[in-house]
Amino acid sequence: MKYLVLFGPPGSGKGTQSENIIAKYGYGHISTGDVLRAEMKNETELGKIAKDYIEKGQLVPDSLIIDMLAKTLDNFTDAKGIIFDGFPRTTAQAVALKKMLAARGGDVTVMLNLIVEEQELIARLLKRGETSGRSDDNLETIQKRLDTYNSQTAPVIDFYKAEGKLANIKGVGTIDDIFERISIEIEK
Ligand code: ADP
Repeated sequence: MKYLVLFGPPGSGKGTQSENIIAKYGYGHISTGDVLRAEMKNETELGKIAKDYIEKGQLVPDSLIIDMLAKTLDNFTDAKGIIFDGFPRTTAQAVALKKMLAARGGDVTVMLNLIVEEQELIARLLKRGETSGRSDDNLETIQKRLDTYNSQTAPVIDFYKAEGKLANIKGVGTIDDIFERISIEIEK
């Protein structure tokens, strides 16, 4: 089974490209952001806790995310592959993922790292905020999410680089062009 980590800062296009990968390759998809938003909508205990972090542009604590992921992973035993979208977001999560996959006899196949410069990210997220209804798509929270990305999430790149799994993808251009770059890496 292939395990893809789709990585990049907020607004880099992970959700959009996940849809393309699902459509072409039929992989299972785990978006920690989507799972958290569903928990918030259903007003679960986890959702209530997550809301405070998300609205401040901070990360939800690792222990909660890792438990949540472990439960979700068991839904995909028959998939050809799995896309991890928005996870891992800290080095501790990357280490936990490695352990969870090793317990299933697997490992991350490749980290697809979408590269987009900050001004473009802010413009995309503000535009999305006009229609997304997401309480974190406003300028103040966007700036905090980018700071959180730079301080806590970007170091995950070094983890996968050291594992020989890093594939940098230019994340600007048309959606189709970017997907073409991703497809080349998936098929390597
Ligand atoms: P984006 O990548 O556009 O910021 P996501 O939907 O992936 O959006 O995540 C939204 C928010 O959910 C994040 O800002 C963070 O607060 C929380 N979150 C999502 N995934 C994780 C994770 N793996 N670890 C910690 N917090 C997370």
